[in-house]
Amino acid sequence: MANKLARKELIDMVPYQSARRLFASSGAMQGKIWLNANEASGPGTYQVSSDSINRYPDFQPENLINAYSQYSEIAPENLLATRGADEGIELIIRTFCQAYQDSILICPPTYGMYAISAENHGADVIKVPLTETMSLDLTGLKANVGKTKVVFLCSPGNPTGNLLSQQEIKTALELFAETAIVVVDEAYIEFSPEQSVASWLNTYPHLVILRTLSKAFALAGLRCGFTLANNDVITMLSKVIAPYPISAPVADIASEALAQPGLEKMSTRVQETDILRGQLATWLTAQTWCNEVFHSDANFVLFRCQSNELKDFIFNSLVAQGILIRDQSKQQNLANCLRISIGSERELSLLQQTITHSFTTTTAQTVAQEN
Ligand SMILES: *Cc1c(COP(=O)(O)O)cnc(C)c1O
Repeated sequence: MANKLARKELIDMVPYQSARRLFASSGAMQGKIWLNANEASGPGTYQVSSDSINRYPDFQPENLINAYSQYSEIAPENLLATRGADEGIELIIRTFCQAYQDSILICPPTYGMYAISAENHGADVIKVPLTETMSLDLTGLKANVGKTKVVFLCSPGNPTGNLLSQQEIKTALELFAETAIVVVDEAYIEFSPEQSVASWLNTYPHLVILRTLSKAFALAGLRCGFTLANNDVITMLSKVIAPYPISAPVADIASEALAQPGLEKMSTRVQETDILRGQLATWLTAQTWCNEVFHSDANFVLFRCQSNELKDFIFNSLVAQGILIRDQSKQQNLANCLRISIGSERELSLLQQTITHSFTTTTAQTVAQEN
């Protein structure tokens, strides 16, 4: 019945394979080591008040917007709090793309939700892949000026990990002036805050920046993100968003995370993550089965295995021990690539031990022969 009545494009559409969904059948969250969704490794503790829970929250809770404004140094009228950065992506597409007519442009390998939200809305997806050095193909972008309404850039990139150079972002902004919204997804910007382009909002009316509390702030379960843009863009997005997008408990917890002690904890977490990431990258580089470790400015490391067989062997050996990482090998130019989120020191050392152990019990050669 649903198949007969639903919009045609939904019938064959595959929903986002979130890290959680991919392992939904593998039992409880407990006892597993989750290194597949770029989450932080430990939760914080927060106070939630139910004093006004009988009332609808503000459309944009003031405590939350003020706290994020202070942290980001962006004025409240240039901020929109959303149900995760994912909702920001969806709102931008629904606001700027006429269904069955307009297109978005993405630069793969990149974050999967841009294309999924577009498909869901009936917007086409133009692909201009990143170059071999994971930077923007400016010639390719130029060829698409006038053909797209929204350009999604991700810096630091997911799953690649590297920052785009500010010069490249600037060139892209200049190319698409007047013809498209240029979104810079800064989900991981806390790992290199000096590289944010948020201060450019005054210069570029078509610049939109996405932020989230899911990564460096360790609040993926909260579902809270922010869209930073000029006020006319915010006003337009506000017409499309739900009337009460941020629940009161979400605003309470997020405000606490954005107060001074919360910011200090975030900073410490970022520093610790940077150290563990460096150690993991060094270890990976020394492994004979590892061909390439990509530079990362975020809380994960992407690496390329010598063969598809070795990639599967490593992935499956880890799954067998309840350690979950993310296979990125289906993405453009990422054959044989896996991505590991930076968990705790203990989790990463278990991961290394597990891989080492599986190679001593099964030599790489037998792996190759079995396949
Ligand atoms: C995780 C992530 C998001 C989504 O963040 P939420 O706030 O959890 O919805 C958006 N963009 C990129 C690049 C991400 O990695």
